[in-house]
Amino acid sequence: MYSLFYGGYYIMPDNKKYDIVIIGGGIGGLMSAYRLQKNNSNLKIAITECGNVMEKRVCPAGKNSTCAHCKICSITNGFAGAGAFSDGKFNLGTAYGGTLGEELGEDTANKYINEVDNILNEYCTSGIPKVYKSNDELRLKCIQNNLRLLDMNVKHLGTDNNFLTMQNLIKALSEMGVDLFHFYECTSVEKNGGGYKLLYANGEILYANRVIIATGRSGANFVAAFCKEHGVKTRSNHIDIGVRVEMKDIIWREFSSKIYEPKILYKTKTFEDRCRMFCFNQGGLVSAENNHGIITANGHSFAQSDKKTDNCNFAILSSIRFTEPFNQPTEYAENISRLANMIGKGNVIVQRFGDLIRGRRTNEHRLSQNTVIPTLKATAGDISLVLPHRILTNIIETIYALDKVAPGTANVDTLLYGCESKYYSIRPVFMNDKFELIDGVYIIGDGSGICRGLSQSGAMGIYVADQILNNLNV
Ligand SMILES: Cc1cc2nc3c(=O)[nH]c(=O)nc-3n(C[C@H](O)[C@H](O)[C@H](O)COP(=O)(O)OP(=O)(O)OC[C@H]3O[C@@H](n4cnc5c(N)ncnc54)[C@H](O)[C@@H]3O)c2cc1C
Repeated sequence: MYSLFYGGYYIMPDNKKYDIVIIGGGIGGLMSAYRLQKNNSNLKIAITECGNVMEKRVCPAGKNSTCAHCKICSITNGFAGAGAFSDGKFNLGTAYGGTLGEELGEDTANKYINEVDNILNEYCTSGIPKVYKSNDELRLKCIQNNLRLLDMNVKHLGTDNNFLTMQNLIKALSEMGVDLFHFYECTSVEKNGGGYKLLYANGEILYANRVIIATGRSGANFVAAFCKEHGVKTRSNHIDIGVRVEMKDIIWREFSSKIYEPKILYKTKTFEDRCRMFCFNQGGLVSAENNHGIITANGHSFAQSDKKTDNCNFAILSSIRFTEPFNQPTEYAENISRLANMIGKGNVIVQRFGDLIRGRRTNEHRLSQNTVIPTLKATAGDISLVLPHRILTNIIETIYALDKVAPGTANVDTLLYGCESKYYSIRPVFMNDKFELIDGVYIIGDGSGICRGLSQSGAMGIYVADQILNNLNV
């Protein structure tokens, strides 16, 4: 009944019974599958992904830089996950990008991060990526200005090399015997004897002895529904909300040439909140992301010099942890982003920093005169009509603080795109240190509320695979 798909490596099997089904084809799910299949070739493993195969993940915004509101966003969904078009910055440590170090202990987390790095090296066919080392001089400069530089070694693959590496890895998984299903959106996981029955939006059903949920940030609703259905308790996690900032690349070159990606924390003066600058893209592009119909800003950059822009971009996000009785932080962040989309006529809005400080909106005319040319076609507008006072104050104070170590950051022509948000609010309470939610169902990666990056998500994927391999009686 099933046949070979294009490219020759996506095969639909007749037999729908698996030892392990992995829901989600991002780096976490791919690394789990890799470790499981490599260490036990008898295992029957499937990865089911709600998005498309990598080669067909095309964002229509590429043509005119405007989000086309696709039902399934090609930027965040599909094989290789949210990381497919990422800048491919691979953190060689645990200083940021999640709390796996706290969960597993630093040594164990670093051991698994190194393993992910080694696997990616094996499939990185376009040269050896550059590693940026931590830098004492810049750290001191930040400390002297009340800023904390989060510093560790970072490997930079670039969007193009990262894409190719993931493509090679997925092809290898298929050749190893892992079944890869695209456009398979899992809608629920039901108990079925000693195992599980997985239901899909396309009407398909798969059976598995064990399940790994690897649905990333975009699968937050799926995880919430799973937890509710199976009585798994969840804890409220924090959210980060703010803007994507774009300026001339030269302003941050002292940092980016030495450490590639400055990640800086600031405790704001007025509210004493934590604000962070992160996800830095040298010579990069600002991009729009569709999260279930809500369009938010993000950014990436290519490694190839001919694809570099004159600009750099990064996020400045303010962290909020809600307390009782409020327990809907994700909805809060979504509503703020929705408001930006409402004002921006279905798009992200962009404002010049100078206009924000003067209390006026940016219009098309002012934008056309700007020295920083926007790399995303966003709607010129007023971010102060969107962001709550506390968050906006935190962002403005952070921009002025950053200006002390990279003068020009608070330039009037600096562009702010709203909104960008990161939410990790569903944090399930695990049964044990194997990250099991219920007997035989594990959770990994960004969707677990623990990881916020490629290296920790991949590391958690291998770690959980090892826990399963240690307890196999399939
Ligand atoms: C534009 C961008 C740039 C980034 N840049 C970097 C970077 O340079 N360095 C870095 O470390 N991190 C970066 N990140 C973050 C990084 O991509 C993520 O932390 C990482 O991909 C998380 O891996 P994951 O496997 O947990 O989840 P994801 O990569 O999000 O994969 C989850 C997959 O599950 C699928 N899915 C969701 N729900 C279902 C369902 N119900 N059924 C079936 N499938 C489902 C999704 O389609 C998705 O493909 C970036 C993210 C974005 C969006």
